[in-house]
Amino acid sequence: MELLYKSTRSNSEPVTASKAILKGLAEDGGLFVPTNLPKLDVTVEELSKMDYKQTAYEVMKLFLTDFTEDELKACINNAYDSKFDTTEIAPIVKADDAYYLELFHGATIAFKDMALSILPHLMTTAAKKNNVKNEIVILTATSGDTGKAALAGFAEVKGTRIIVFYPKNGVSPVQEKQMVTQKGDNTFVVGIKGNFDDAQSGVKAIFGDKELAEVMDNAGFQFSSANSINIGRLVPQVVYYVYAYAKMVANNEIKNGEEINVVVPTGNFGNILAAFYAKNMGIPIGKLICASNDNKVLYDFFDTGCYDKNRDFILTTSPSMDILISSNLERLIYRIAGNDADKNAEFMAALSKDGKYSITDDMKAQLADFYGNYATEKETADVIKEVYDKANYVLDTHTAVAAEVYKKYKAATNDTKKTVIASTASPYKFARSVMSAIDAKYEGMEDFDLIDELTKLSGVAEPNAIKEIRSAKVVHDTVCEVNEMKDVVKKFLGI
Ligand SMILES: *Cc1c(COP(=O)(O)O)cnc(C)c1O
Repeated sequence: MELLYKSTRSNSEPVTASKAILKGLAEDGGLFVPTNLPKLDVTVEELSKMDYKQTAYEVMKLFLTDFTEDELKACINNAYDSKFDTTEIAPIVKADDAYYLELFHGATIAFKDMALSILPHLMTTAAKKNNVKNEIVILTATSGDTGKAALAGFAEVKGTRIIVFYPKNGVSPVQEKQMVTQKGDNTFVVGIKGNFDDAQSGVKAIFGDKELAEVMDNAGFQFSSANSINIGRLVPQVVYYVYAYAKMVANNEIKNGEEINVVVPTGNFGNILAAFYAKNMGIPIGKLICASNDNKVLYDFFDTGCYDKNRDFILTTSPSMDILISSNLERLIYRIAGNDADKNAEFMAALSKDGKYSITDDMKAQLADFYGNYATEKETADVIKEVYDKANYVLDTHTAVAAEVYKKYKAATNDTKKTVIASTASPYKFARSVMSAIDAKYEGMEDFDLIDELTKLSGVAEPNAIKEIRSAKVVHDTVCEVNEMKDVVKKFLGI
């Protein structure tokens, strides 16, 4: 049966999965949601014998119904290959009292790779299916992680080009080095003299430029987005929750049918929404535990029913969760508003006008699957040390936020269900914060000395992503003013 996608903000005609992937965002500014959530048509028993790619096919075929079996399998095979440093793709490691689902074994050692390694293939396949002759130009503004993962995903993918803008003085040295050393003739990385908001607004303005769109079309190009609101990023993320459950059954950690909890360190609400989708597909998940850092807008929302972004933006040691507008929450709001696009559009209008909205009691009652809490900077550092001391396992700062929130959840509820923590980055990516948390003696050390120390201390080999940047040549050195971004794009495309 064909599954279609509709906007969360109006009752415009639903579109096919491939169209939703090509468009990214609906024309009315809403997000695409499936008109219903499919149920798995294989048993956990069967899933427990499958590898990651087979599981991916069983999950994704239910969402991307206008892709043929051959098309979808080709996308999956091209994505989950030796770019990952383990054939398990997403291994589960038991440490202390939780199961860590390691989502950081891809090219850029953060969980964005799980979806961004397949999105380029979904997108080029979608373009073919819809007779799009233009080359797809991915335009991205990044505060660090997404840019590199998108570059790694789209590099050398035929029929695509990718342009990434980052704030020249607003990313970490490792993040900058990762981006400016990116290989691939179709990649282009530009530092802008401004902050992340400037980069984001500049990209939005280029997307909305009708004149430019026409010039692009005449020259055989069209823009698309690799942003986390694209359904082509959400669907691949459902896979690893299904895979994790089946693997825990296969490994006799749980009985088939036994409920588990899932903890997710959350920013844009994409990863935890994927877990919610997995639950609705039939995976026995009890609580969805939403972990925030000091930017605890989601904790307050689950607590009070009021989403309020009017607050200071706090820079933390878990920067990928420093976010005040969790875009993907809109998909949940739409659902608990009874799939009512008009009602959802009102909430989103209030958010853009006043920076806040409050849901009704009836809507709040539908959030019983979720539990929200947060971890302070000190708690985050302390739990890194605690888990290291107890279990000899090194958490990155984002995963540590989740580990701390899990502790708070257990203390508050005495719930003893087995619990999976989504482990979203390798500690190598945030070595400075991680090592300082374990011992203050590391504080003054150079970046690469810290990495050597982390290797000794964790017993985990240095990932390729880190080895590469030790010696890689800088190949991108373009820097521009904010008002030059459009010209830079045109120059790169030769138009
Ligand atoms: C992006 C990211 C997150 C947040 O994920 P969302 O899907 O945006 O909630 C958490 N941790 C790391 C390391 C990330 O890169």
